[in-house]
Amino acid sequence: MKPLLLMAAFLLAGLSLGLSGPVRAEGIACPTDPRAPAHTPTVALPTRGGAAYGTMQYAKGQMLGPKEIALTFDDGPDPKTTERVLDILDRHCIKATFFMVGWYAHARPDLVREVAARGHTIGTHTWFHPNNLRHLPKPEAKREISKGFAAVEAALASAPPASQARLAPFFRFPGLNDEKTLRSWLGARNIATVSCDFGADDWLKISSAQVYKRALANIDQVGRGILILHDTKPHTADMLSDLIVTLEKRGYRFVQLVPEKNGRTLAANAPDALIGHPHSLQ
Ligand SMILES: [Zn+2]
Repeated sequence: MKPLLLMAAFLLAGLSLGLSGPVRAEGIACPTDPRAPAHTPTVALPTRGGAAYGTMQYAKGQMLGPKEIALTFDDGPDPKTTERVLDILDRHCIKATFFMVGWYAHARPDLVREVAARGHTIGTHTWFHPNNLRHLPKPEAKREISKGFAAVEAALASAPPASQARLAPFFRFPGLNDEKTLRSWLGARNIATVSCDFGADDWLKISSAQVYKRALANIDQVGRGILILHDTKPHTADMLSDLIVTLEKRGYRFVQLVPEKNGRTLAANAPDALIGHPHSLQ
């Protein structure tokens, strides 16, 4: 075989074996949702000093590109609905972020581990979900936040290191009721505050059709960002698959929020840290 032909044959063999370099995740279709890529691209959020994300509250909090959507789910894990939500996300090959309540994580550590094992990011949302941390004495509010992190971390303690690392230095204020001194307290521990760019009113007693309609209208108005939903709500699980399909049809793509590369280490090394190292990094 002539050298040129030989080289061509090698190149072709390399291509067919996938040896020609990294395959772009976007180029591989999700087996159960051909419109979606098989892998969710990640968006790394800097966490040093306690940055805040989500333009509903923080004007400079936009990290997503046009038509990029990050799905987030609050208030779980819920024994009735979280697994349904996980199955729907799996079916569409989407990774999301779950802001968990410590009390529920403590009650169902197996569900915390399930969320992590399926590759989602986990943030925290206090221990017992007081609706407004602004109304609590500061030591109590801080205890709410730190117990939330501790509960999720305890639930993941027996999980593989990769799952432990799914716990991100991300915090979401209940009711999005943030407070300046608590935000700087989080910032000193390199924990980012994650708000949202739009919601779907799914905490209200409305039908799943209404949740679907409001989510779409709010997303179309802003065009990119973090959507806040609740994995505790059956009406959210009921419309989730349809919402995903419609967003894909409209040209949106899903991204997963993750902390910047050394974000967990930064948070774990902070004085009076709220979160430790995953075992593999100790
Ligand atoms: Zn909440």
